[in-house]
Amino acid sequence: MTSTAGPTTATVRRAADAPPLITGDDLPPTRHFIDGTFIEPSAGGVIDVVDPCAESVIARVPEGTAEDIDRAVAAAVAAKGRWARLVPKERSELLHTIADRLADHTDLLSRLESANTGKPLAVSRDDVDMTIDTFRFMAGALRATTSMAAGDYAENHLSVILREPLGVVGVITPWNYPLLMAAWKIAPILAAGNTLVLKPSEQTPLTTLKFAELVADLLPPGVVNVVNGHGAVVGARLAEHPDVNMIALTGSVASGRAVARAAADSLKRVHLELGGKAPVVIFPDADLAAAASSLRVAGFWNSGQECGAACRVLVHESVAEEFVERLVGEVGALVVGEPRAGEDVEVGPMVSKAHFDRVTGYLERAKDEGVRVATGGGALDGPGYFVAPTVLAGVPEGAEVAREEVFGPVVTVETFADEEEAVRRANDVPLGLSASVWTENARRGHDIAARLDFGTVWVNSHLVLAAEVPWGGFKGSGYGRDLSPYALDDYSRTKHVMHHHGR
Ligand code: NAD
Repeated sequence: MTSTAGPTTATVRRAADAPPLITGDDLPPTRHFIDGTFIEPSAGGVIDVVDPCAESVIARVPEGTAEDIDRAVAAAVAAKGRWARLVPKERSELLHTIADRLADHTDLLSRLESANTGKPLAVSRDDVDMTIDTFRFMAGALRATTSMAAGDYAENHLSVILREPLGVVGVITPWNYPLLMAAWKIAPILAAGNTLVLKPSEQTPLTTLKFAELVADLLPPGVVNVVNGHGAVVGARLAEHPDVNMIALTGSVASGRAVARAAADSLKRVHLELGGKAPVVIFPDADLAAAASSLRVAGFWNSGQECGAACRVLVHESVAEEFVERLVGEVGALVVGEPRAGEDVEVGPMVSKAHFDRVTGYLERAKDEGVRVATGGGALDGPGYFVAPTVLAGVPEGAEVAREEVFGPVVTVETFADEEEAVRRANDVPLGLSASVWTENARRGHDIAARLDFGTVWVNSHLVLAAEVPWGGFKGSGYGRDLSPYALDDYSRTKHVMHHHGR
């Protein structure tokens, strides 16, 4: 691959002599996982799974069909009664056992995730740690669910509110956090007493299949099913299937629209975690050094392929120059490389050639429009889909690169003159997933956070998550909440049973 023009500062650290991240023995069975076993697909098509550092094929998975989905849904339907009838303690213990099993395989799962996505090992380890924590949190939370107290709310009528599972949930996951996004769905869905059919991203199915392999002997057959394949075929069938009671997608806005449309005929519930374009609003009294070093992580974590990435800075004009200088210092020092090239690698490649082309396309168009490249600005030498960590400064209001989700190692910087302008422009994007405010004035921090139209707002921080608190967006970022007891609510239904006891 040749690099496109631009004042790039980074180089890609290689690891030619290091041992490979995975061997053939580490791979999961590359088939569908249905009714407790890995089965042969209904048709012969395959999908290549590519290592984005070497641009080489590391595995092939079956290209699933609607028939494969129908088979998996039938298994999930058959399993749902028994799973729903387990008392909370039994389901909780099973979720803890899953967490223990994953914890015993942290290293394998991390290496597999890095081999498939190119992400630094530190990022994969963090993904696996949070995956385990998500199962542990849901195992605890499911035993502590509450509802309105039973009582007489109409004369001589006792009301009891029951919380029931929905039945079968269809799950569609993206490529940026393949295992973690699967866990954010699987743990609360199972905790709430549902069974599920999951379609991983066709680009990154390996850790999801490994998950299925690792938990196969822990769960009753049919409770978790995994079908590989493309969104437009397998995902679409899952979304429209009449026996699927809810469809939950983490992915792009376009896929969210397609899933919501496909779900409309059966009127099934829809849960959408879609894109983000997080503004980072920096006031003149902010701790600029803290903001810059926080953005080194929050803007470039997972190589910027992160829906909550701190990708759009709005900084007060009086401190813009100083802030850009500090940010460029941090970003210019980021270590770019293959995951094998050391524990200190911070930024890896884009996940695929198509995504690399998309990200570099945004950079080329921004440069054509006269946006100033403060550092980075283009592709790095291959092999591999590496893009230089980039800061674009002096970005004008409404520029494409500051409005659309680039989903790469690119942070844009715009300036504002006063608070009203800052809030108006921060909110002036179709997406509403997350945002941050930087100020040492506690009243201002509180007030601005309240006026920002985003599902998560950090004050003097960015991209810090915990299993106890909800994650999800407003506006074009979708609806529904991952993590926290709110996710358990989303995957449950309430039933009111009223007893007439008048005599
Ligand atoms: P994508 O939408 O291309 O793919 C996501 C999944 O949807 C894949 O499994 C894909 O096969 C499937 N899909 C595609 N078209 C479909 C269709 N018509 N019907 C059913 N399924 C379909 O997204 P991606 O490129 O894998 O992931 C990146 C996107 O995910 C970004 O927009 C990012 O912001 C978003 N994301 C959001 C969150 C969040 O929590 N809000 C988390 C991670 C990623």
